Amino acid sequence: MYRVAVFSCQPYDQTYLSQNNHAEEVEFTFIPSRLTHQTAPLAATFDAICVFVNDVLDKACLDILHSLGVKHIALRCAGFNNVDLEYAATLNLHVSRVPAYSPEAVAEHTMALILSLNRHIHKAYNRVRENNFSLLGLTGFNLYKKTVGVIGTGKIGSALCRILNGFSCEILCYDTIQSDCITAMGCKYVSLRDIWEHADIISLHCPLNEQTSHMINARSLQQMKDGVMLINTSRGGLIDTKALIAALKSRKIGFLGLDVYEMESELFFEDHSMEIPSDDLFDRLAGFPNVLITGHQGFFTHEALQEIATTTLSNIENARLGRYPDTTFLC
Ligand code: NAD
Repeated sequence: MYRVAVFSCQPYDQTYLSQNNHAEEVEFTFIPSRLTHQTAPLAATFDAICVFVNDVLDKACLDILHSLGVKHIALRCAGFNNVDLEYAATLNLHVSRVPAYSPEAVAEHTMALILSLNRHIHKAYNRVRENNFSLLGLTGFNLYKKTVGVIGTGKIGSALCRILNGFSCEILCYDTIQSDCITAMGCKYVSLRDIWEHADIISLHCPLNEQTSHMINARSLQQMKDGVMLINTSRGGLIDTKALIAALKSRKIGFLGLDVYEMESELFFEDHSMEIPSDDLFDRLAGFPNVLITGHQGFFTHEALQEIATTTLSNIENARLGRYPDTTFLC
């Protein structure tokens, strides 16, 4: 039997992985704890581990996994900024991921944030429940012909461009690799500076790495239009949270939609509603009326969970058979 420990396991992970596990040779053990170097000893006796976005696979953790004889790390997500890939390779620890499960799921959630913020749906919902039918303060703006900056035009960014085209938005894109599909759609590649200066809405869809860490900072924020709408459904570390709060206070940012947060690993995916809040920056952010935050749920559709489970299982089955594709991270 090939034994796999599933870390950060939620009930839905268990359901989708179990329902799709048709391989008789693979046995899952579901562990709610997040994987860090402190919890890594739980991986003893397992052939492989399966992890998610906020598990921390740094050198210390990888050393423990290696010493325990773990052979394969199956990420059940697309992003891999939480794994020290180079170090894993030196330990001969094979890593797989789910490069594309449903870019539309995240793009549609991005659109949901844009539309909700613009039309103040999060405010209106509460007002109507309290018999307050006043429209004061709920004025929105038409998306028609507005300029949207899309940073990162890979699978999710291009799915968003397709949706925005339907709203007749002017779409300005930035990516280190330009795609013909994007220009064929009528979108225009420009510099980051052009996006900061001209976009009414800016949406982030590039990976978190050394080049992109804190790409939204005091300097870039300063160059943006007053009242800009900023949306981040990619990774929290793309934004300097302190600079963001300052830009909300000065009204440089008029609307902020986040599905990810720089320090989310200590907060997201768990119920903290009965605890004394411990993250002052998060509470400051969440307190602004023009901020809408969801807890990393962009991926969370039936179709995406199904695809995540089947691809993860296929990666695990390949690993069990000793087939380790080395192109997974190039997709
Ligand atoms: P992708 O690899 O298809 O696209 C990423 C794009 O970013 C590529 O075109 C790449 O060239 C570009 N890029 C790389 N470096 C860049 C830079 N310095 N500046 C601008 N662009 C750069 O990835 P994807 O599937 O579209 O996912 C994008 C990101 O979305 C992932 O990295 C992940 O962090 C995030 N994500 C979030 C959720 C969620 O639930 N919120 C789910 C899946 C993925």
